[in-house]
Amino acid sequence: MTIIDATQAETSMEQENRYTSGVYGKRPVTIVRGEGATLWDAEGRAYIDCAAGHGVANIGHGRPEIAAALSAQAQRLVTCPEIFYNDTRARLLERLSQVTPAGIEHFFLCNSGTEAVEGAFKFARLVTGRTQIIATLRGFHGRSMGALAATWEPHYREPFAPLLPDVTHIRYNNLEAAEVAISEQTAAVIIELVQGEGGVHSATPEYVAGLARFCRERGALLIVDEVQTGFGRTGRLFACEHYDLQPDILCMAKSLAGGVPMGAVGLGPRVMESGRVGRGAHGSTFGGNPLACAAALATLDILERESLPTRAARLGAYALGRLRGMRSPLVREVRGQGLLIGIELKRRAQPYLEQLCERGILALPAGPNVIRLLPPLVISEHQLEQVLDTLEEVLEGSRALSERAQLIQEEAASTKPHLADPEVALLHNMLTIPSLSRRESALAHYLAGQARQLGLYASVDEAGNFVASTHENLEEQHPIVLLGHMDTVPGNIPVRFEEGLLYGRGAVDAKGPLAAFISATARVQRAGTPAIPIVVIGAVEEEAATSKGARAVVGHYQPQACIIGEPSSSTAVTIGYKGRLLVEGRVARDSSHSAGPQRSSNEIAAAFWERIRAHAEQWNAEYAGSSAFAALMPSLRSINSLQNGMEDQTQFLIGYRLPPRFDIAELRIQLQEWADADEVQISFSGEEVAFQSSRATPLARIFGRVLRAGGHAPVFKYKTGTSDMNVVAPIWGENIVAYGPGDSSLDHTPNEHIAVAEYQHAITVLEQVLQVLGREPHASLEHTSVSGTQESSVEVGAES
Ligand SMILES: *Cc1c(COP(=O)(O)O)cnc(C)c1O
Repeated sequence: MTIIDATQAETSMEQENRYTSGVYGKRPVTIVRGEGATLWDAEGRAYIDCAAGHGVANIGHGRPEIAAALSAQAQRLVTCPEIFYNDTRARLLERLSQVTPAGIEHFFLCNSGTEAVEGAFKFARLVTGRTQIIATLRGFHGRSMGALAATWEPHYREPFAPLLPDVTHIRYNNLEAAEVAISEQTAAVIIELVQGEGGVHSATPEYVAGLARFCRERGALLIVDEVQTGFGRTGRLFACEHYDLQPDILCMAKSLAGGVPMGAVGLGPRVMESGRVGRGAHGSTFGGNPLACAAALATLDILERESLPTRAARLGAYALGRLRGMRSPLVREVRGQGLLIGIELKRRAQPYLEQLCERGILALPAGPNVIRLLPPLVISEHQLEQVLDTLEEVLEGSRALSERAQLIQEEAASTKPHLADPEVALLHNMLTIPSLSRRESALAHYLAGQARQLGLYASVDEAGNFVASTHENLEEQHPIVLLGHMDTVPGNIPVRFEEGLLYGRGAVDAKGPLAAFISATARVQRAGTPAIPIVVIGAVEEEAATSKGARAVVGHYQPQACIIGEPSSSTAVTIGYKGRLLVEGRVARDSSHSAGPQRSSNEIAAAFWERIRAHAEQWNAEYAGSSAFAALMPSLRSINSLQNGMEDQTQFLIGYRLPPRFDIAELRIQLQEWADADEVQISFSGEEVAFQSSRATPLARIFGRVLRAGGHAPVFKYKTGTSDMNVVAPIWGENIVAYGPGDSSLDHTPNEHIAVAEYQHAITVLEQVLQVLGREPHASLEHTSVSGTQESSVEVGAES
């Protein structure tokens, strides 16, 4: 973090004042950083942000997902005008059509709210062949010549007259005025469903329904300006949803791309079916650029994943309730919808905004008398309480902080150290970045950025793996490789921190172990570059049977020791994984046979599976004894059948867990024989041999020593699943273990979470192990027998 002092802040203000255009009235604060709903000024003072960049930061500041999406896209392609197709833009257009109100299925992409309004007016004139635009009193639609004509505030408009002609302003929420004004000359009516700048007034349902009806009857288009109300602000993704409204044209911008400039004009059927929106009708150089599109996709993911519209509805209702219950002679009315809240005062709002700012709360005006609260939708309950307490304090007259506020501050202080700890924050941020197999790029780029900040050399390799190292150059070295993986299985788990537990997909498998690798390596590096290089790899596609990431690195390094990042718990080490073979099968029969004595495809598939099961049972009775690690374990993972009247077909997938020293080739021959006999078509994939090491390897012994020194009896585990250890151990040799915090029984479950204390313990264990490894070449450690020690060894469940 850069520390900027008071003199630096003054310099920034002086510089801006000297060189700025001067059109903005400024507040005396230099904002340098943000996270969630918190902003920091140049002197390090924190503010609760209730302005959200005028409603831009709905998903909060400093989102790593946005940084990662921008970084990944920027490295691929920043600019691509819409005369060419682009993959990222294509995905965004499809996504927008899914999330916007029904009927809005086509989009013109631009770069701001005012451009969205400008575009809407052009489309409306083009489609109707008419010129008149009807807007409302107190409406705000932007500052360019066309949009400005529709903006009501005379101070904004009058100095620039003449503006776009034929624009009329009618009273808001007054249906009689609308009925008189809307005519056969009207191209469009433009409204905000909640007037943001104009004082936070909501349209009534009757008004909105009436406007829509008059527009339809008289051939005018209804333009809904959701530049401020869109993307969750009012408690629904779009305010239209509160009214069950299908606009003809929908204007969007502000929060669309999570803070990156972007606007969009959504076009409904009356526009598209007119046939008048043809080539050359409108355009924009920057419109639809892949960088903004990538940010918008990441923003929509976050809004959905974190259910932010619902959160806005809940917190907004709570805040409105509390504000309405406030007894202040200053307050005339409290209005709002979701987290778009207006407090109308009987005085000018400005002095109170200044008092709030002095108390660490940044809010906005909406007209001369209204305090407007527009916080990021991720604002925490504690922060919202603080805002409401402070408002009470300022509006009800100065009083000491309420008892409740004090309690909340104490509580916040007691939970804070965790997420304020950068090592915990790293894991937390990793959990918020989704990374299914083959979609790890955002996380990889985020990690590379973080690792560089931690003093490591970092990059994303050709396979997409994240790679960080203590040394810039690894040529001809035998490094210590820490091989974790970035990908997770599907299934979204909202990231939350509760009573010392961090919940999220990948918390255990295997972002917890990977974050511990990065943190421990950074600690070692901070203490002085180690003699032997340490490389941390976050592999791609471990959860997919391809193990592409591990296969890509296995030839690159000849490590002297390797730690695989999988959960073993912070006091245990995994020294073996079973092998795997996947058998995909298909049986097809002509349907005519199903009536006869012949077996159906389902019966044949079932009999094939039964053979496999019986064979394994027999094999285990003979060779495995009671050990699950030594057992041959087939499972029927899926079976599907299809009868279409022509063909009778069954498909199935069988997964084998294989014990060490098992003859896979012989098993394949046996299976093929049975398959041929029954005319079952089978194919094999995902083959891995089991790997079993011992607790006498130098690496396992170092772990044992470190754990014992910390007062723990080390446990050595064999797992019945597979991991990237199966891929690399046959080549890298047996000085290998898997280690990482977390309870592996939570792998792939909806309840996946990790104890922060265990994660922190694992970092310390790893740091100590790496310190030993980093200075002792492994050749100096010979194998020794460990019989008679207190260590125990157990078998535990699957990994992947
Ligand atoms: C902010 C706003 C605009 C203008 O958007 P810019 O991106 O500032 O051009 C238009 N309409 C509404 C309702 C707004 O709140």
